[in-house]
Amino acid sequence: MNIFDAHCDVLLKMWLNPSISFKNDKSLHITYEQMIATKSKIQCFAIYIPESVSNIDKFDVALEMIDIFYNQIIAKYDHIKLVKTKKDINTLNRNEIGAMLTLEGCDCIGWSITRLKTLLQLGVSSVGLTWNYGNTVADGILEERGAGLSSFGKEVVRTLNDQKVWTDVSHLSEHGFWDVMALADYPIASHSNCYKLCDHPRNLHNNQIKAMIEKDGMIGVTFVPQFLSVHGHAGIADILLHIEHLCSLGGAKNIGFGSDFDGISTTVRGMGSFKCYMHLIEELHKYYSDELVRSFLYQNFVEHLPE
Ligand SMILES: [Zn+2]
Repeated sequence: MNIFDAHCDVLLKMWLNPSISFKNDKSLHITYEQMIATKSKIQCFAIYIPESVSNIDKFDVALEMIDIFYNQIIAKYDHIKLVKTKKDINTLNRNEIGAMLTLEGCDCIGWSITRLKTLLQLGVSSVGLTWNYGNTVADGILEERGAGLSSFGKEVVRTLNDQKVWTDVSHLSEHGFWDVMALADYPIASHSNCYKLCDHPRNLHNNQIKAMIEKDGMIGVTFVPQFLSVHGHAGIADILLHIEHLCSLGGAKNIGFGSDFDGISTTVRGMGSFKCYMHLIEELHKYYSDELVRSFLYQNFVEHLPE
C-alpha cells in the first residue's frame, strides 16, 4: 500500500552526523531500504534548524540541509525523485518514490521574503511557520506571549498562497492558527494530534480540527508518544483512537500521517521504525474499509496537494 508521510527529521540527523548513510544506517528510523521494503511512495523531508544555531547562521544551515537532501538522497538513489506538486506525483513511475522538501519553522528567513522565495525555488513545497517559540512570522505554541501572525508573517502566508505551497500550522500558537485559517489557501497540520484525547499543547483542539476540515486542510496524525497519550507512552491502538476522533468530527477525507520519525527519541510500541507502518496498516484494516485505509495512508494528502 502506498504511504505518504508528511514529516520526518532525517535531514537533521544527517546534518548532525555526516557519517550517517540514508541507505540503511541503524540510527535512522527511515532509510532507503525500509522505504523500498515498505512501499513508501511519498516522504516529506523537513528542514529543521536546531535552536542552538545562531540566527545569523540559520539560513546557511538550511542550505546545508538542502544540499544533503539533493546529494545524499535524491542523487544517490535512482528510484527517488523530487516532487513538489500533484502533477509531479502523478508522473512517478510505479517503482519510483517521491521526496518532498519541507521547512519546519521560518526562523532561517529572518525578515526576508527573498530568502523564502529562494527556498521555494530550491524545491521547498510546504512551509511550517514556526517551531515551538517565536520568530519574525509568528509565535510558536510554547512562546508565552502567544502572538499570531506579524505583518511580515501575513506577507509570508500570501507568498505561499501565490506560489501554491502548503502553510503548515503544526507548532504554531493558537492565535497564529486562527490567523492562518483566515488567510491561507492551502493549510495543513503536518504532524499534530487531537487535544481532546491527549491534552498536550502541540495538539489541536476540536474547534481547530473542525476549522481545518472546513478549510479542506489536512491533518497528519503523528507518532510522538507524548502527543498520543497522557501517559507519555503509547501503542498503535492510541494512533487509531486519534484517527477515530478525527473521523467523528467529519474529517475522514482530511486524515493523513506525519510520523515525526527521526525527530523523536521514544517511539510508539510496535512502531519503532518506518517498516512498522505495515503493523499500523494491518490494524487499520480491522476497523476501516480498504478504501478508507488507502485514503488515510496516501490518497488524502495527494488529493490536497496544489496542482
Ligand atoms: Zn516538529
